[in-house]
Amino acid sequence: MGNTKDEGPFGLGWSRRNFLGAGSTVLAAAALAGISQTAQGQQKGNYPLVSDPGPSDVWQLAENPSTDNPPRTDHGDLGSIWYSFNLAHKRVQHGGWTRQVTQRELPLSKDVAGVNMRLGAGSFRELHWHTAGEWAMMLYGTARITVLNPDGTVFIDDVGKDDLWFFPAGYPHSIQGLGPDGCEFLLVFDEGMFSEEDTFLLSEWVQRIPHDVMEKNFGLGADAIAKLPTEQMFIFPAALPRSLAEDKAAVGGPSVQSTVNYAFKMKDMAPTKANAGGEVRIVDSRNFPPSTTIAAGFVTLKPGGLRELHWHPNGSEWQYYIAGKGRMTVFGAPGRGRTQDFSANDVGFVPSMSGHYIENTGDADLVFLELIRSDKFVDFSLNNWLSHLPPEMVEAHLNLDQAEISKIPTEKLVIMK
Ligand code: MN
Ligand code: MN
Repeated sequence: MGNTKDEGPFGLGWSRRNFLGAGSTVLAAAALAGISQTAQGQQKGNYPLVSDPGPSDVWQLAENPSTDNPPRTDHGDLGSIWYSFNLAHKRVQHGGWTRQVTQRELPLSKDVAGVNMRLGAGSFRELHWHTAGEWAMMLYGTARITVLNPDGTVFIDDVGKDDLWFFPAGYPHSIQGLGPDGCEFLLVFDEGMFSEEDTFLLSEWVQRIPHDVMEKNFGLGADAIAKLPTEQMFIFPAALPRSLAEDKAAVGGPSVQSTVNYAFKMKDMAPTKANAGGEVRIVDSRNFPPSTTIAAGFVTLKPGGLRELHWHPNGSEWQYYIAGKGRMTVFGAPGRGRTQDFSANDVGFVPSMSGHYIENTGDADLVFLELIRSDKFVDFSLNNWLSHLPPEMVEAHLNLDQAEISKIPTEKLVIMK
């Protein structure tokens, strides 16, 4: 670390070694693998790190260096732009589990909420519907999904890792884990206050109807009605289904097959953009027509790669981090800035219209989703804006000379290195 004199926040010279040496918490944090290197890297552009001798959670510090010691460019209070599914209450049942990050956990997120769910082989997320539209991405394993159209046609398909689905609000659907080990997936709803606890469940409807009405409705006798569930099911284990072809035949074959494809096989899609910084796939209603309320960018950034400075004119951005380490700075009017670190299973949030970048700060690929409550994925690139203005106008605003302005990439790169 050396004994370098740094300029303190009030213009006072001080020894960083003295300050770093003062706190046992800092030493404990430095003992964690990689933290001393990260902390030194963060010094550039930061105030000299004053020790934190009071209570600290050293694991949290190690995960969040930009929160522990923010860059000096940060300013003001944007509110929370981060939450982790790993902190959310996990509802565990026989056959699977679920947890959610909604506006209750991330108060700025009015438009979007998320659920992370696991189903064992054969286990069901019970037949249900809800007030929100449901976009999903498979994270692990395989599942069978079904959804009914109002005209009585039905969509049945099997999905695997990186596949998407979209179920419109009110459309009844099911999800079942397949072999050998079921599935895990991310659900994204187009309502911030959506709750997985507030869905319309088949098992609960049949508990709320007088039995004589159900006998009349189903054309069944009292003995059959007496067998119906008396408890909420929600997630429960079951036998594995028959083959996809057999299930499609069992529900009526081609004559009742949905003409709408509610699944999207993202592995079959070429990247929308790819370069040395990584690649991005844009999936919205233009290439996945059912997805009318959620537009997605699936981004892979190589180590050192940057999702360029940009903003979205059509809504807030709800992010899900799938792999790697990254950081984002959100710029919010007036004049606010917040830098936050992200890891796998974290949720990030960008308020509507706010400027942001995402940088891969790790040594492996950073993989994440940018999700907007909209039918189209739309963004503005700062570089693209600056390079499509008269150079004198840019010079007058940013004090750059013409040679410097000409170096700014003119193409909307989306990702760069
Ligand atoms: Mn659902
Ligand atoms: Mn974005």
